[in-house]
Amino acid sequence: MLITTKKLLIAARAKKYAVPALNVNNLEMVKAIIGAAEKMRSPVIIQTSEGAIEYAGIEYLSALIRVAAAGKIPVAMHLDHGKNLEYVKMALKNGYTSVMFDGSTLDEKKNIEITKHVVKMARTYGASVEAEIGAIAGIEDFVSVEEKDAHLTNPEKALAFVRATGCDSLAVAIGTLHGAYKFKGETHLDIERLKKIAKLVKIPIVLHGASGVLEDVKALAEHHGAQLGKARGVLDIDIKQAIRHGVAKINIDTDLRLAFTAGIREAIDDLPRVIDPRKLLEPANLLMREVAMRKMKLFGSAGRI
Ligand SMILES: [Zn+2]
Repeated sequence: MLITTKKLLIAARAKKYAVPALNVNNLEMVKAIIGAAEKMRSPVIIQTSEGAIEYAGIEYLSALIRVAAAGKIPVAMHLDHGKNLEYVKMALKNGYTSVMFDGSTLDEKKNIEITKHVVKMARTYGASVEAEIGAIAGIEDFVSVEEKDAHLTNPEKALAFVRATGCDSLAVAIGTLHGAYKFKGETHLDIERLKKIAKLVKIPIVLHGASGVLEDVKALAEHHGAQLGKARGVLDIDIKQAIRHGVAKINIDTDLRLAFTAGIREAIDDLPRVIDPRKLLEPANLLMREVAMRKMKLFGSAGRI
């Protein structure tokens, strides 16, 4: 059943679990995720970035997700990191039940102005809006405490932003990083900051860049040449704390990519003579499904259907 993120996430925040929001690029990923959700009886958010839409085409992606949502599992179809309004419009027209507008790189005034506009647009389609305040860091690490503070979400500003825009959920910067480079160092979440935000902001809070290291998936990826370093990503214990303090949607992209590529590398090494793409993709599909299931257990969304 297709559902908005608003409905999914209000229930999640109230009952203190988080819905996994998993990024997809292709059929294999969609099938692995919905297979995991059915097995775990978990609601799920299937999301596509602008890059995924460029890669596969929005008609293909929205059709795949719609088929995945045809069963009993509540599924939200979500645009991840919409930065260009054309993509936001395209997503709404193609039946997405939720869009993110990411104005985190704009100045505050502009971010509020465009987010407000997106909320108005989404309402006419009955869709929800996730917005972002405070930048989630990329490859460049923070250099000083002052700089760190400048990049992380300020609780009072978050409240003012939510009031001004009317967004349905809010992505906050509390120390997570995007991408696999995070595995070079341990990521610590600023839980004290999150507590202050959650005290003021009553809508569901979203955590980006929250892939952790599933040790066996990492080992498999490294065995086949991926270089991920020694340390771990976001720790399970931090994730659980974040969920206790208002986080109701957690984005997972890197962990799924790792599973997919590790599975493919394994199959190509093990089956050098096989030319059937279905056989070569099978280990990747199983591994992605396994990763998605473990996230559902960790986030507490398993067994909610
Ligand atoms: Zn993100």
